[in-house]
Amino acid sequence: MARDIVNFNAGPAGLPTPVLERAQSELLEFEGTHMSIMEHSHRGKAYDAVHHEAMDLTKSLLKVPDTHEVFFMQGGASGMFATVPMNFLSEGRVADYVVTGAWSKKALAEAQFVGEARAAADGRNADGKFVSVPTEWDLTEGAAYVHVTSNNTIFGTQMKSFPKLASPMVADMSSDIMSRPLNVEDFGLIYAGAQKNLGPSGVVLAIIKKDWLQEASTKIPKIFRYKTHVDKQSLFHTPPTFAIYLMRNVMQWIGENGGLEGMQARNAEKAKHLYGAIDESGGFFNCPVDKEARSHMNVVWRLPSEDLEKRFIAEAAEAGMVGLKGHRDVGGIRASVYNAVEVAGVQRLVSFMSDFKSKNG
Ligand code: PMP
Repeated sequence: MARDIVNFNAGPAGLPTPVLERAQSELLEFEGTHMSIMEHSHRGKAYDAVHHEAMDLTKSLLKVPDTHEVFFMQGGASGMFATVPMNFLSEGRVADYVVTGAWSKKALAEAQFVGEARAAADGRNADGKFVSVPTEWDLTEGAAYVHVTSNNTIFGTQMKSFPKLASPMVADMSSDIMSRPLNVEDFGLIYAGAQKNLGPSGVVLAIIKKDWLQEASTKIPKIFRYKTHVDKQSLFHTPPTFAIYLMRNVMQWIGENGGLEGMQARNAEKAKHLYGAIDESGGFFNCPVDKEARSHMNVVWRLPSEDLEKRFIAEAAEAGMVGLKGHRDVGGIRASVYNAVEVAGVQRLVSFMSDFKSKNG
């Protein structure tokens, strides 16, 4: 059955159709084993190959240097908000957080349960809105780490580049991982929940600098120590095997579609169409985000009234475009255009916007 729908959900989000078709064709019978991959032991040969391929693909797509290691965690990105300080915020140290949106605020709040953590920058404007990414950071000398959020899923802002810092930089890349090439060596830790760009929910992809890992706390339960998972190649306990299998398939799909350069070009094209439609609407559509901070993953905009916004969302859904309602904290419209959303899907939305404006503008 054709999937004649464009999925603009913020996460869990749409997956590439070929990835789902492959999963469907392999669901009952994985590689001649008469079993589903879900039914295989996480210690068996069939799953082991998938598991290590997922790690190897992460390394090759992101060009992860030998100084860093890939591992998988559970508990979502929110789990990482807690385990980052548990591992690295020891007594007497301070962690700096660059607050650029709702998720970085949550990350900071979790760190403050564990130790001393502060906002080194706060991107809110006079109206309390995050419409830009601050570039001036008031960093603590000798900070345990500096935490950033590369893309703000709710407000639609994105860091376009990353500085080289003296302290280890920790980045929550949940909503733009593998959407563009990255210099992994600039980071102490990168983490991302899979459910936007990489697969289904249930697994977090993480990349850590090996040297820094040696400094992590051993006074926390084993399950929360990153070292446990790195040492055991993410097989310390039962990993979310089906989620990792799907993530591997998504990464293969990324590889077949031009790798991260390919994703970047495709995402830039989608962003150009969408922001173009907004900026050329004579103010009917209005994106509040500063031009240089506009996200290529989550595009947000407003209409002249909330009534029109409701109608826009309802009529778009009738026309097969779903998931366009802005986050409840900000309202308006949000189109999440992660890797799997095709250029043609965005063009369909742009032409819907133009029709909607003609009828209601
Ligand atoms: N960080 C960012 C940037 C996110 O977008 C999200 C989820 N939307 C989270 C963290 C929280 O992720 P999870 O639900 O996996 O805990």
